[in-house]
Amino acid sequence: MNFDLSPEQKHLRESILKFTAESLDNDGVTMRDRESVFSRELWRRAAGAGLASLTVPVEYGGRGYDAETTTVAMEAFGHGCEDGGFVFAMGAHLFAAVVPIQTFGTKDQKSRWLAGLGDGTLVGAHAMSEPGAGSDVGGIATRAERQGDHYVLNGVKTLATNSTEADLLLVSAVTAPEGNPQARLSSFIVESNTPGVAVTRRFETLGHRTTPLGELTLTDVRVPVDSLLSGKEGGGVAIFNHAMMWERVGIFAAHVGTMERMLKRTIAFARSRKQGGRPIAGHQAVAHKIADMKVRLEASRLLVYKAASQLDRSRLAAFDASIAKLFTSEAFVASALDAVQILGGAGYIQGRHPAERELRDALGTTLYSGTSEIQRTIIAAWLGL
Ligand SMILES: Cc1cc2nc3c(=O)[nH]c(=O)nc-3n(C[C@H](O)[C@H](O)[C@H](O)COP(=O)(O)OP(=O)(O)OC[C@H]3O[C@@H](n4cnc5c(N)ncnc54)[C@H](O)[C@@H]3O)c2cc1C
Repeated sequence: MNFDLSPEQKHLRESILKFTAESLDNDGVTMRDRESVFSRELWRRAAGAGLASLTVPVEYGGRGYDAETTTVAMEAFGHGCEDGGFVFAMGAHLFAAVVPIQTFGTKDQKSRWLAGLGDGTLVGAHAMSEPGAGSDVGGIATRAERQGDHYVLNGVKTLATNSTEADLLLVSAVTAPEGNPQARLSSFIVESNTPGVAVTRRFETLGHRTTPLGELTLTDVRVPVDSLLSGKEGGGVAIFNHAMMWERVGIFAAHVGTMERMLKRTIAFARSRKQGGRPIAGHQAVAHKIADMKVRLEASRLLVYKAASQLDRSRLAAFDASIAKLFTSEAFVASALDAVQILGGAGYIQGRHPAERELRDALGTTLYSGTSEIQRTIIAAWLGL
């Protein structure tokens, strides 16, 4: 067991920290968060630094990193980029749209889409959830009916990250209504400018306010048969589960990075803020909260890297990924609450200190990529319960 990063990984981490500090307009995040602004310019810059194609094979223009090195990169991204909504949007693009295409796509699908998704030209989204089907993907009602050499899609997709900006959608739809639940769904690559695709709502959210999030309707959307991801019907559940496994590692690695930034700032504040003539860090009640933040950070990091290592060794990393996701999301919320508590009133004022925004961002993490309750159900099932 070796917990050290390789020299190449250390260099990657340093270069992403430098890039994010210098090129992703950290100073503008308060305004973007307040106004819910997603910036295509920042997207192109981040993609130019390789962040949209970390996992994509070199032959398709990507960085070709394994899960562990991708985790190093995402942790640095989440640490250096103050815009949590932007980091989340990029993570959802990479792990829920790009990874499924690179893993399950036919040669033609990979050649056609991976370069643009990687170089920042295209934004991707994975549209599974529906108004009537969130935790229960078995309840998906969007239909895809084969008509000659086309499929015709009809349904409503909600809460898909990036959906209001996306150029390319991975849409999960029912192709075998009466079939085995595991083979009921298929996944389609749908260009968002296809006739019949409409953004019907853009949501204002509590946190991750710079992430484009909304609702789509699909009305008689005709896509050619070669839009079927993997080229075979019935793979939708497996594709979705694979995407979730990667999200639970990659996106939560970014949250580990954010937790570290939050810890450093909380320590600095507790040292500089004086009450009763001495720094508040000198109060054991405050110092213990900070100690708990450090323990949560270290435990989250170990779980995320363990899941990444498992992902590199086998595709059966779902158990580790769920444990890492559950723990990291709840640790992020608990540590963000501690940070705001330590800041006192300053932590409650919008735009005064990043912890206020980070707490709002953290609250989404126990919901997306499967709620905490669903992670516990997955973990219990792996334990045979
Ligand atoms: C910021 C954000 C980004 C998202 N991005 C995407 C995306 O990119 N693509 C996409 O398809 N979806 C996305 N979602 C949707 C997300 O996957 C769902 O919100 C989530 O799965 C929960 O579904 P729901 O909101 O319908 O809640 P419900 O499933 O209705 O759940 C409501 C509550 O009941 C609990 N519950 C439900 N079923 C069970 C059960 N069997 N056992 C125990 N408790 C249960 C839940 O844990 C939750 O507390 C996103 C959501 C958010 C908030």
